[in-house]
This record gives sequence, structure tokens and C-alpha cells, in this order.
Amino acid sequence: MKCALVTGGSRGIGKAVCIKMAAMGYYVLVNYKSNVTEAENTLAAIKAQGGDGALLQFDVSDKQQIQDVLGNWIETNTDSYIEVLVNNAGIKEDALMSWMEDAQWDNVLRTNLDSFFYVTRLVLKSMMPQRYGRIVNVVSLSGLKGLPGQTNYSAAKAGVIGATKALAQEVARQNITVNAVAPGFIKTDMIEGIEEKDIQKLVPARRFGQPEEVAHAVGFLASPEAAYITGQVLSVNGGLYS
Ligand code: NAP
Repeated sequence: MKCALVTGGSRGIGKAVCIKMAAMGYYVLVNYKSNVTEAENTLAAIKAQGGDGALLQFDVSDKQQIQDVLGNWIETNTDSYIEVLVNNAGIKEDALMSWMEDAQWDNVLRTNLDSFFYVTRLVLKSMMPQRYGRIVNVVSLSGLKGLPGQTNYSAAKAGVIGATKALAQEVARQNITVNAVAPGFIKTDMIEGIEEKDIQKLVPARRFGQPEEVAHAVGFLASPEAAYITGQVLSVNGGLYS
């Protein structure tokens, strides 16, 4: 069975990506941290369109949980293979750097950057022998441009962009591509409190993006036809400077 693992699949962009992966014919492993109700809603949406999948709960910022839950899933499901990995789970904890607390730095780096390393290394071990795979990392405009109040988040996302480019060169011979999608302002819980009318004028497209518009870009990079595209960052931001 060919699977797509989407971290942070319970809400927002991850949920839209799960639905996209199901439409592409994948059995979808929907990862989430704590919101089981929303994760079940994602799975129900997958099933409603004729797809299938399962929930896989672990905290991507915890390398032991990744090993225990994901490692165990890989070991016990020997007839299944994760062909597509979408590293999407992420958080932000904004503060000006002079006021930023240790925990704000650590949480954001662990959830957005360390997670890439621990999840991808584990999945790669089974992807490499198959000599085929697609890895898509959800980064951010903030990691390309840098945004004030987000030194932690910008550093984490820029770190993932660097890792994307390096890993792409390591695994290209195994027909595994590694790319990133960099959203601008997308209507999800993450940007709750940011008023569209306040930001609108900064965005050439004059609106926030929809999660499905990011999922479309992820689906493109995850498709077999995108075999010769690797190490790239595709912005989905309505024309914002990047
Ligand atoms: P969201 O609506 O806040 O959803 C976050 C998702 O990540 C949820 O499914 C959440 O699970 C999961 N998650 C958070 N921490 C986790 C952890 N430690 N372990 C496992 N899962 C975890 O966020 P979003 O806007 O869809 O963001 C998705 C990605 O896009 C993130 O990487 C974010 O940085 C990036 N991004 C978003 C925007 C934007 O404007 N929205 C812009 C640029 C980049 P629970 O439901 O269990 O909490």
C-alpha cells in the first residue's frame, strides 16, 4: 500500500493537503498533536471522497515520540510504504527578540526545524530502498524574507529551506525529490487575530490565500510528473515579495 504521511494534518493547510493526497490515490496517514476531533474530521473528509487513511498521533517536536509511534508504524506495516512525506506541522510564538523567552525559541525551533530532521530521517530509511519518494516541506515567506517579531520562526523555516536544498542533492539518485512550499498569509487558525483588511493592501492579489491553494502546490510537487524538480522553494503568497 502506498501511503502519504502529512504532519499536522488535523487542521488548516495540513488538512487540505491530506484531502489532496487522498484524491491522488494515497492512503493518508494523518498526524496530529492533540486535537483528535479535528483529526477525525480530516479522516472523515478523506473517506467521504472515497479515500482511506489512519490517524497517527505524535508530537513532532519530541524525537522519542516520533521514534515510538512512527518508527513502530513503519516496523509493523511492512507491506506499506510511505511514498510521500509532507512535513507540514508548525507553530509560531512571536515576540521581538529582546523580549523572546528561551521557551519561545526552543518550542519553535523544535517543532518547525528539529521535526524535519527526526521525521524525515526515519521515513528516508524505508524510502531509499524503494528508489522513489517525494518529500515536501511547508516553510514560509518568513523563512525567505525574515519578518520582525519572528526571529525564531524565520530561523526555523530558513533552516528547513537550507536542509531541503542539501537533502535534495543527497537523494536525487534514488529518485527522491525534496522541495518546499512557502505560503504567505493563508486563512487558518495560525493567523487568527490578523485582520485580512489590514494585510490586504500589502498583498498584490489583495486577499489571503486558502489552504487548498497551498495543497495544490504540494500536490504538484508530490506528483510523479514533478520528477525533475528538486531542491526548490515554491512560493504561494499572492505575489508578496519573497
Ligand atoms: P494551523 O492551522 O495552526 O494547524 C497546525 C497543525 O499542526 C495542526 O494540525 C496541529 O495539530 C499541528 N501541530 C502543531 N504542533 C504540532 C506538533 N508538535 N506535533 C504534531 N502536530 C502539530 O497551522 P497552518 O496555518 O495550517 O500551518 C501549517 C504549516 O504552514 C505550518 O508549518 C506553518 O508554519 C506554515 N505556514 C502557515 C502560514 C499561514 O498563513 N497559515 C503561512 C506560512 C507558513 P493539532 O490540531 O493536534 O493541534
